[in-house]
Amino acid sequence: MTLEELSASLYNCQRCKLAKLGRTQVVFGVGNPHAEIMFVGEGPGYYEDQQGEPFVGAAGKLLNELLQSAGLSRSQVYIANVIKCRPPNNRDPEPDEVDTCKPFLLQQIELIKPKVVCTLGNWATQTLLEKKVGITKVRGKAFNLKDFVIFPLLHPAAALHQGNLQEPLREDFRKLKAFLDARSTAETSPSGLPSESQPTLQGQQVQQTQMDLFGS
Ligand code: SF4
Repeated sequence: MTLEELSASLYNCQRCKLAKLGRTQVVFGVGNPHAEIMFVGEGPGYYEDQQGEPFVGAAGKLLNELLQSAGLSRSQVYIANVIKCRPPNNRDPEPDEVDTCKPFLLQQIELIKPKVVCTLGNWATQTLLEKKVGITKVRGKAFNLKDFVIFPLLHPAAALHQGNLQEPLREDFRKLKAFLDARSTAETSPSGLPSESQPTLQGQQVQQTQMDLFGS
């Protein structure tokens, strides 16, 4: 299955109750289908539901600005959400809705094959890490999964609602840029390993972080 075919298969998805709770349309995702970096938020809000694209409201504008600060453009990355339909009144997604929609996010990741998946906020982070961890504990750190790295960040909407989170969110993106730069250096070094002058955020340190978090 291609990404387009997956998107088409969800066009009128009725698999969870959000289909009947006032959504305008399914908001599948947008961006480069071969992106190395993917961003995953919680679910569509009002403007996303209206326009059929993730992160197009105020949070989307802030995300665009933050992407730029990390040396990325919106067309270069892929942006999606854990759930594809807007919950009524922007309420949190319910567990059965996440359970029903999550396989489609996993399929998106499998088809796009990103090297880094940046989760925005608690919902996306907990869904993909499959752990009940608070975003404040894991933000700005890299976690090696089997096929890609998860890099949790604060959610732009949270920073818009709580002004004191704006600077921490910018700090998260500075850390993301440092991580991507170190990763790029490691990939281009002749040995395939990072040089000594470029302390790595990959490999040992990443796995160490994962061990600290999960206690394994
Ligand atoms: S949220 Fe996901 S599972 Fe539920 S109706 Fe929308 S696309 Fe289907």
